[in-house]
Order: sequence, then structure tokens, then C-alpha cells
Amino acid sequence: MNEYQYIYGPVPSRRLGISLGISPIPKKTCNYSCIYCQLGRTDHLTNARQLFYPVVEIIDELKDFLKTTIPFDVITIVGEGEPTLYLGLGELIHQIRKLTTKPLAVITNGALLYDPTLQEELASADIILPTLDAWDETSFKKINRPHGALNYSRVINGIQSFSKEYQGQIWIEIMLMAGINDDDQALIQYKAMLKKLKFDKLYINTPIRPPAEANVKPVEHKRINQIAGYLGGISIDLLESEGFHSEIKDDYEAILSIIKRHPMNQFEIEGFLKARGLNNVDEILDRLKQDNAVEVIHYKGYNSYRLN
Ligand code: SF4
Repeated sequence: MNEYQYIYGPVPSRRLGISLGISPIPKKTCNYSCIYCQLGRTDHLTNARQLFYPVVEIIDELKDFLKTTIPFDVITIVGEGEPTLYLGLGELIHQIRKLTTKPLAVITNGALLYDPTLQEELASADIILPTLDAWDETSFKKINRPHGALNYSRVINGIQSFSKEYQGQIWIEIMLMAGINDDDQALIQYKAMLKKLKFDKLYINTPIRPPAEANVKPVEHKRINQIAGYLGGISIDLLESEGFHSEIKDDYEAILSIIKRHPMNQFEIEGFLKARGLNNVDEILDRLKQDNAVEVIHYKGYNSYRLN
């Protein structure tokens, strides 16, 4: 099997099970530059939808992958940035539908949901997972640092109007950060905001991977659970530990191909190697540390690795 440009995984997703990812946009292309982003600061900040790649190229890769018997639960369109910036999204969803009956999810920051064309394009996806971290213009600028063409009321009104029309599932996620948006005042605002939206699930998350800004700190598990209770949401477990998959035979290359898309912490690497019957975990971790292309970030008491 070839190494793919657009398809990755399947990887474990805490919300979706085993997810086959499709990334239709170039790395770090987004209309936000969230302070908690695990990809670092956005270097291609844009609010213009573009046909970054031909739909047919992505679909050809998917066709190739579907010839294998590798199991997965869901196809997830999720960029290393914001996937709704991909102008071919409607056609991509349409073509994926023809190839598989697996559920199709789209992970988005929700910023462009005010766009009627995008609303139509997303209509045939099964699950839309928008993020909602801000409750007003000030918090929007502070947390999400949006492109200048975006303002909070346009974005929240867009999510609201989409939520009323859309027939599939909407799973909202709020990313909570200690001292930034986890105080009682913020929670009252979130509660009021959520009342205006129609959605099926609410996930409460906190950064478990190294964030773009060093002052971003996760919220303690106990507090997360308290907040989840107050808002009527589900707390996302703090660690992913298994389920990564790669067809690449060389173990080191296999890890590089995963961390190119999805940072892994030391426990995830250990679990991945052990599942392949290997015990040379320290050797591989040392090699990663010495590799100039790999960034090692110490966060929350353990190391995470990502390929730059
Ligand atoms: S919306 Fe997602 S990809 Fe874009 S900056 Fe925020 S966390 Fe990163």
C-alpha cells in the first residue's frame, strides 16, 4: 500500500471510535489561530475557500485504501487546519458517499457555517463536530484569534442557523483552559449560548497535547467533570493510548508517518510499538529525540512528539 497524501490512519478518536481521516487542505491552513492549537500557530491564516487539491486525487487515494481490509468505524474529514476552507468539500462528500456506507463526520471550527453554500454541502454528512470556545467578541479574539473577516456574531449566528436546518447529528466541543475560560462567569455565558443551539452532544475537552501558546494550561479532571455536569456535557477522557495503525513496515518510518498528521505522546508510541510486538521502545524514543525533523515537547509531565 502506498503512503498517502490525504488519507491517514485509521487513528483512535475519543469521540468517533476508529477514524479514517481525510485531510483536504495544506498544513496549518485555517481561519483561526487558536491559542490551544496542537499544530502550533497558524501560518496560513485565510478565510477564502480554495480548491487546494483536485477532488479526484483524494478520492483515488480513498478507493485505494478501501481495497484493504483494515477496519475503521467512521470516515472523518478533518484538516490540519480548517477543512471547510476546501472548496471541493461538497463534491468530496458526494463522492465518498458513493464509495462507502460508513458514517461520515466533519470536524470544523464552525466559523464558515454562516455560508449557505457550505450549509448545503454539509447536509449529507452524518455528524458535524463544531468547536465553540467563545461567548463574545473579546473571548473570540483572545481564544480563537480569527481572521479579520470574521466576527463573533456572524459566526455564532451561522452555527445557530445551521443547527436548526441540519438533519444529521451535531456534536459540539468546548475546549476549556485553566484561568482562561473555566471560571463561573464563563460557564454562565456558555450555558446561555448553548440554549440557543440545537445539538445532540456536548463534549468538554481540555488541551492534552502541547498547545500553540505556552501559557495555555489544561483544566484538572475533577473540574472538567464538574463543568461537564453543569453544562450537560460529556468529559473527554484525558489520554488516548491505543489503536494507532500503520501499514508501513519500518517501525520508525511508521511513527513518523503518524506524527506528521497527529502528535503522539510517549505512552501512545509505546502502545503502538508493543502492539507490533516490539520492546525497543527506549531506542525508538531516543532516535526521535535526536531527529532534527521531530519536535519533542514536554507537556503535562510527559513528552509528545510531532513531525515539523
Ligand atoms: S480551528 Fe482548529 S486547526 Fe484552526 S487554529 Fe483552531 S485548533 Fe487549530
